[in-house]
Amino acid sequence: MLRQCRIFDPDERINFAGNDYLGLSEDPRLKAAAIEAVERYGTGSGSARLVSGTQALTAHLEEKLAAFKSTESALVFNSGYQANVGLLQGLVGPGDWLFCDRLNHASLVDGCLLSGARWTRYRHLDLNHLEARLKDARPKRQPGHVQWIVTDSVFSMDGDYVDLKALTALARQYDAFVLIDEAHATGIFGPEKSSGLAEQYGVSREITLQMGTMSKALGGFGAYVAGPKVLIDTLINRARSFIYSTALPPSVIASDLKAVELVQSDPSMKTRLWQNIETFRQLLQEAGLPFDSQTPIFPCIMGEASTAVDVGNRLKDAGYFVQGIRPPTVPAGTARLRITLSASHQRHELEGLVSALRDVIPIQSQ
Ligand SMILES: *Cc1c(COP(=O)(O)O)cnc(C)c1O
Repeated sequence: MLRQCRIFDPDERINFAGNDYLGLSEDPRLKAAAIEAVERYGTGSGSARLVSGTQALTAHLEEKLAAFKSTESALVFNSGYQANVGLLQGLVGPGDWLFCDRLNHASLVDGCLLSGARWTRYRHLDLNHLEARLKDARPKRQPGHVQWIVTDSVFSMDGDYVDLKALTALARQYDAFVLIDEAHATGIFGPEKSSGLAEQYGVSREITLQMGTMSKALGGFGAYVAGPKVLIDTLINRARSFIYSTALPPSVIASDLKAVELVQSDPSMKTRLWQNIETFRQLLQEAGLPFDSQTPIFPCIMGEASTAVDVGNRLKDAGYFVQGIRPPTVPAGTARLRITLSASHQRHELEGLVSALRDVIPIQSQ
């Protein structure tokens, strides 16, 4: 079965497939910031960051991101994909070791391949297995080379997350750097600033580099890498995806800046999102459906790819846009519906989806 880009029409269906978790992509305050930037600076940035594509607005965003993530410095990349590919290529090389969760995002996988380092994968969230891998590598390490533990913080297709306290303790014990991808945690986790899972676990200082995106909960586009200035300076000079690509348009930078301010100053969207997560969990349980999550991402495992696609299509017919996710995006035999919640969903929409799910899902016990 060929993959296709299906057209999503917001007037016809309710979106349960996006990553706009806080509903910020439609927020009037972000729109106003973007429009003002277009009026002032035009539509395009005109060149790469190291040429004339860095403006005061960009530098301001990078300062705000560093403060947001409690790091010394931060750098904006054009997308999360480019950030992961560029930072692994720019900082890691042959002779270094990478230890990766088996379900890491494809952009991290591609970055690992591009780095030329030795890399090994441990079972998903299995820190005992990670420790075994670290032990194995110990005698094989060459002097002068480093090792990195690389992981998503919240996993995009499973909606689960890593115990960063335990992971950073292991990193300390085995003298490894840590890179986390906060794409699905930024804006959602973190008691004070909502900056991500590192803040939630109180381990921001123990993580070497935190990357994340502005394209999901922050409702905009682009990505950040946050960490020590010496590493950020290295990336500016070495990360090819940073150097050889035109900078983001000013309107995108302006709405990202507004979003970073808003998630820290206005908790109302986050409160609504977590209320929706609780309501949805309850509705699923009451309906006897065996799906659950501690994040806005609910993986509903169907097994066969054809079942996931078929159920997704029937939900679309019922007015709910839910995507069936199949291999190779997820491991064979675990094709699923990936249902994602947003702060902008209304209770009756959650109820409607659960009742549609009951109608279309082939479950034995029902
Ligand atoms: C979406 C995503 C990315 C890529 O970010 P883009 O800005 O969409 O390129 C990277 N890592 C994870 C975990 C993601 O979910």
